[in-house]
Amino acid sequence: IKNIAVLTSGGDAPGMNACIRAVVRTGIYNGINMFGVLQGYQGLINNNINPMDARSVSNIIHLGGTILKTARCLDFKTEEGLDIAFENLKARDIDGLIVIGGDGTFTGAQRFAKKHGVKVIGIPGTIDNDLYGSDFTLGYDTAINTVIEAIDKIRDTADSHDRLFFIEVMGRDSGCIALRSAIASGAEAVLLPERETSVDELVAQLEAGASTKKSSSIVIVSEGHKDGGAFDIAKKVKERFNHYDTKVTILGHLQRGGSPSSFDRILGSRLGFAAVNELLKGNTMQMVGLRGNDIHTTTIEEALTKHSFKLESDLLEMTKVLSI
Ligand code: ATP
Repeated sequence: IKNIAVLTSGGDAPGMNACIRAVVRTGIYNGINMFGVLQGYQGLINNNINPMDARSVSNIIHLGGTILKTARCLDFKTEEGLDIAFENLKARDIDGLIVIGGDGTFTGAQRFAKKHGVKVIGIPGTIDNDLYGSDFTLGYDTAINTVIEAIDKIRDTADSHDRLFFIEVMGRDSGCIALRSAIASGAEAVLLPERETSVDELVAQLEAGASTKKSSSIVIVSEGHKDGGAFDIAKKVKERFNHYDTKVTILGHLQRGGSPSSFDRILGSRLGFAAVNELLKGNTMQMVGLRGNDIHTTTIEEALTKHSFKLESDLLEMTKVLSI
């Protein structure tokens, strides 16, 4: 391996810049020529591939988003797109590619590696924490911090007015952000895609809180919850529970931005460092991830096909116990 390119793809996540910095500097430290691809796979196809030196990643470790930009690129799903991307890498003698993204990104990387023999390593970058092979994905911790900062503010107004707030958080089919946010913000209830919660149960829980003089209640709703989003749930509850004025807040894309937490800066640095080292060892089609407090590799195949239930059982149990 002499030349390595790095790209970010799919949704952006805080910590991607810390990761890019680590990839570029680890490569340069080891005598590799490093390249940055702009706008994910679109940049591979559009030949938007630029050399990066150690200074090109100065002062980015604290920035959210991704300096390399990201994109969803339909052309890369075609055989022709894969071929054009390969020609552009070949012209620069780039034989290693590090992709930072989610499962779509890894699917593309695997197809590309199988078809053209480019060595690829994946880094799990998504706030959703929905990938097998890493206990934490890049951006997840920062997203939770952002959510709890917002909920703390909502709690001030909820408490002052005796209100019931339904707050919808991101995570797609995963309830990871919702569960951790619920524990960290002291929410009264949380609705998760992984767990059935009936409106009856929820109303009973809120009634119990009201009868013991709770002055406000916060219910966190995962965007992937099967009975609908925060507006739907709020409507159903309101029909049967009227102790408080009811409000709904959808936190939306603010959850994707912001300066990465120390955890995500360190995770991004570790994963970037590990990804380059995997390529230097000659490995390919692997994802680097955090398990416990150690960096491990998982084949991209496994990361894509295996599914892990990531909700911590003690946190699940605590949602009921600590909200009385
Ligand atoms: P997030 O979890 O944030 O959505 P992601 O990596 O899953 O991230 P996707 O939009 O699903 O995001 O995928 C990113 C890109 O990966 C796609 O825009 C496309 O360019 C590429 N990709 C996805 N599936 C394939 C595929 N089957 N073949 C080739 N490329 C693919």
